[in-house]
Amino acid sequence: MSVIVQKYGGSSVADLARIGRVADRVMEARREGHAVVVVVSAMGKTTDQLLAMAREVSAAPPRRELDMLLSVGERITMALLAIALQQRGADAISFTGSQSGILTNDRHFDARIVEVRPYRIEDELARGRVVIVAGYQGVSYRREITTLGRGGSDTTAVALAAALRADRCEIYSDVDGVYTADPRVVPGARHLPALGYAELQEMAESGAKVLNAEAVAFAKRERILIHARRTDDAHGDPAARETVVRGEVPPAPERVRAVVGDPHVAWVRADGHALAELLALAERASVPLRASDWTAAGASAWVSLARVPDWERAAAAFVAAGMTVVDPRSGDAVACVSVVGDGLTEEGSLLREVLAVAAAEGCAPRAVTSSALRITLAVARAAGDGLTRALHRRFCEG
Ligand code: ADP
Ligand code: ASP
Ligand code: MG
Repeated sequence: MSVIVQKYGGSSVADLARIGRVADRVMEARREGHAVVVVVSAMGKTTDQLLAMAREVSAAPPRRELDMLLSVGERITMALLAIALQQRGADAISFTGSQSGILTNDRHFDARIVEVRPYRIEDELARGRVVIVAGYQGVSYRREITTLGRGGSDTTAVALAAALRADRCEIYSDVDGVYTADPRVVPGARHLPALGYAELQEMAESGAKVLNAEAVAFAKRERILIHARRTDDAHGDPAARETVVRGEVPPAPERVRAVVGDPHVAWVRADGHALAELLALAERASVPLRASDWTAAGASAWVSLARVPDWERAAAAFVAAGMTVVDPRSGDAVACVSVVGDGLTEEGSLLREVLAVAAAEGCAPRAVTSSALRITLAVARAAGDGLTRALHRRFCEG
C-alpha cells in the first residue's frame, strides 16, 4: 500500500475546529486508499508562548528543560487529532517523537536527526491504523528528549517520509506553496509551481520560514518529493495550487528566483580578533554562526536568533571577550535581505544592480556577502521590509 506523510503546521491546528478540519482531510486521504502518517505542530503560537513563559522565569533557561517544555506543544495536538479521528470512526493512534523512533544527537533546542527507526509506526500502519506523530522532537542516544529547531516539524515529516519510503510528503500550511517572496511582506510575490531543492534550501537558510532548512536538506539527500499546499484549499480542487519541490527543475529564465528578508539576526563584530577565537567562543556559548568572515581588521559573524533561546547570556559572553554585538536589543538592530537565484555572480553586474537598488532606497548596507546562489545585504532593521519589496520589484516583477 502506498504511504503518504502529511504535515500540518501550527496555524492549521490552531483551535479545535481546525483540528476537526484536519481530521476530515486525513479521512479523505484514507478513503483514497493510502496508508497515512500525519505529523502535527503545536497549536497556533503555543511554542512561542511556552518559550516566553520559560524566559519569564529565567533569561537563560537551561536548554534541556526547554526541550521538556516545548515538546509538550506537539503532544497536545497529536492526542487531540487522534481523538478527533477516532470520533470519525478511524482507527488512529498518536506517538511522540521518541515512540516514533526519531533518534537525534544531544544538541538540545537545535538537535539533528541521526537515525529513524519507525518500527512502531510500521506495525500500526500494517494494522490499518492512521498514525499521528508529534513533530519537532526526538530522543537522543542518552534517552533525553530533544527538539529539532524552530519549524522542525517539517524535518520530522521529511525524515519519516524517507524512513517509510513514502510516495510523497505533503506539507500543509496557511500558504499554497512557496512564493518569490513572503506574501505577507511583498504584495506582488509570485507563486512558484516547482522549485529545486538547492534554491529552496538557500531561501530557507536566508530566513524564509515557509519550510525549515534542515527539512529541505534532508529531502535533497533522500530525494523526497515535497508538495507544499494550503490546508484550507478543498481536497481535490483542480484550481488549488501547490509547489512541488524536487531535484530536476528546468532552469528558470530569470537569474533571481526569490527575495528573502530576515529581521531576526544579530551581528557579532570581533575587531582585532582571529576568526578561530570567535568560532571557539560561539561553540562554548552553543551559538550556531550563519556566515562568518575575517579580514585584517578582525572577524565577524551572523547569528540567526531563532536558533538561540538564551541570547542574552550568549551576547554577554561575546561582550565580555571584547567583541561588539549588534542585535535587536540595541537601538542599532540589523536585518538581512537576500536575493536568491543561480549564477548570481557570473558577472559583477547583478551585485552592482542590487547595490544600486539599496542606494536608491537610501539603505547603506552594513555588510554584503555574495555567492553564486545568494547575495545578502545587512541593513538597518527598519529598512529591511522596504528593501525586500524594492529588490522584488526590480528583479521579480514585470
Ligand atoms: P506552519 O506553521 O504551517 O509551519 P509557517 O508559519 O512556518 O507555517 O510558514 C508559512 C509562512 O511562511 C507563511 O504564512 C508566509 O508568511 C511565510 N513565508 C515566508 N517566506 C515565504 C515564501 N517565500 N513563500 C511562501 N510563504 C512564505
Ligand atoms: N512548534 C514548533 C515551532 O513553532 C515546530 C514547528 O511548528 O514546526 O517552531
Ligand atoms: Mg513552519
